[in-house]
Amino acid sequence: MAASKDPPQATPPTPAPCRDLDPTDWAEFRRLAHGMLDVMIDHIETIRERPVWQSAPAATRAVFNAPLPRGEGALADVLGTVAAHVTPYATGNTHPRFMGWVHGAGTPVGMVAEMVAAGLNMNCGGRDHIGIEIERQITRWMADAVGYPATASGIFVTGSSMANFLATIVAKTSALGANTRADGVRAAEQQLTAYTSVESHGCVAQAMELAGLGSDQLRRIAVDGAGRIEMIRLEAAIAADRAAGHRPFLVVGTAGSVNTGAIDDLAHLSRLAAREALWFHVDGAFGAMAVLSARLKPLLAGLEASHSIAFDFHKWGHVPYDAGFLLVRDGPAHKAAFASPAAYLARAPRGLAAGETWPNDLGPDLSRGARALKTWMTIATLGADRMGAAIEANCDVAQYLAQRVAATPHLAMKAPVALNIVCFGVAGRHDGAINRDIVMDLHEAGIAAPSWTTIAGETVIRCAIVNHRTTRADIDIVVDAILQRADDWLAARND
Ligand SMILES: *Cc1c(COP(=O)(O)O)cnc(C)c1O
Repeated sequence: MAASKDPPQATPPTPAPCRDLDPTDWAEFRRLAHGMLDVMIDHIETIRERPVWQSAPAATRAVFNAPLPRGEGALADVLGTVAAHVTPYATGNTHPRFMGWVHGAGTPVGMVAEMVAAGLNMNCGGRDHIGIEIERQITRWMADAVGYPATASGIFVTGSSMANFLATIVAKTSALGANTRADGVRAAEQQLTAYTSVESHGCVAQAMELAGLGSDQLRRIAVDGAGRIEMIRLEAAIAADRAAGHRPFLVVGTAGSVNTGAIDDLAHLSRLAAREALWFHVDGAFGAMAVLSARLKPLLAGLEASHSIAFDFHKWGHVPYDAGFLLVRDGPAHKAAFASPAAYLARAPRGLAAGETWPNDLGPDLSRGARALKTWMTIATLGADRMGAAIEANCDVAQYLAQRVAATPHLAMKAPVALNIVCFGVAGRHDGAINRDIVMDLHEAGIAAPSWTTIAGETVIRCAIVNHRTTRADIDIVVDAILQRADDWLAARND
């Protein structure tokens, strides 16, 4: 029959029920979410009882090497996986004996703030909403704290690496004029050159690379015994570049170096920068937050005379990652480096699209989270004085560690303690490999997490005291654990 020759008709697929992505059972969701909040509060409250760090076992790593799930999973199961396979194997920086690198510890209020921020899910690139207003508040607070005028501008970024990069762009645009944004640096008549110390963070050189200026055009100046840029050598380098026909445009000082916590002579740098017509930027990633302490602020004298400052609220401000910040004294110069005339960013006289300067005028990000909210909630809850006192306490604990090392025959200090970073190692002549071994032992034992660095060619143990939970008792535990291993090693060597 003719009908049987018709091609078989595919049965049209039954349309999936149109569903949004919200829970079907809000009561159940509420119960699970409250339970998870309790799990996380317990986690922070009892952090001391757990190892600082433990390596994730293969079974846990395998959980995160699975095919893309096509179907739904129960939230209860997902939360169970998080509790079993995520929370035990985090970085460890919430623990009081995490002393490796310069990591902030976070705070419980910061955790709640992240929840609020996710719930509101504001896009803080621009437009007229409260997230933008809060970012302006943080800018005004920090401008005031460091001694900048009220006309300063500021922007949240991921971290100081990004803030140092943006500062390099602002300095370049300010030196060459806004046309350089279209013309590019090859149109400039002279080679731009910048200056920083050999102890500055690697991201300063990378900023020169990303800006298209070249890291070879960053002159890395030697430091003195305290790790501060040598001013005489800096002046000589600038003079040599001028004599060679180059155009010095930027000097980057460090307030709290990553190796030893050294602070450049910022007042001297600001005078030199003024004389030489250079942009004076300060990488104050963690050190700049010391302005919150009346006792420590004098160490940063000259910071107020800089053109821009990069710093991180996620380090010594303990705002949850990430919360980097760039502050620029000359607000219009900052805007001139980034503002764009794109039609979709056009301003309206009123309504949601109103507003003069939006964060997307001050940096390359268009979509951005509400980093300002968690920063505001942290500062509003704790207060600047208590935060400053926690920073002071870290410096006191660092001094205590230095005293214990100095008083212990088998250990030796390797650098002066400027703020909160203590570099030391096993005493005597050796290549430093034992120091690195001890650090790795301590990590694997879960006792403490110091790091190591290289000072004058030797690998040394580095304890960066950044955690507001670290006490003298923690220092005693760390020193005793290090000493035990140092003693064993020295005894084995003498056999
Ligand atoms: C941490 C640090 C940086 C980099 O900051 P991120 O927030 O990690 O990008 C730059 N400079 C110094 C001195 C630092 O301590």
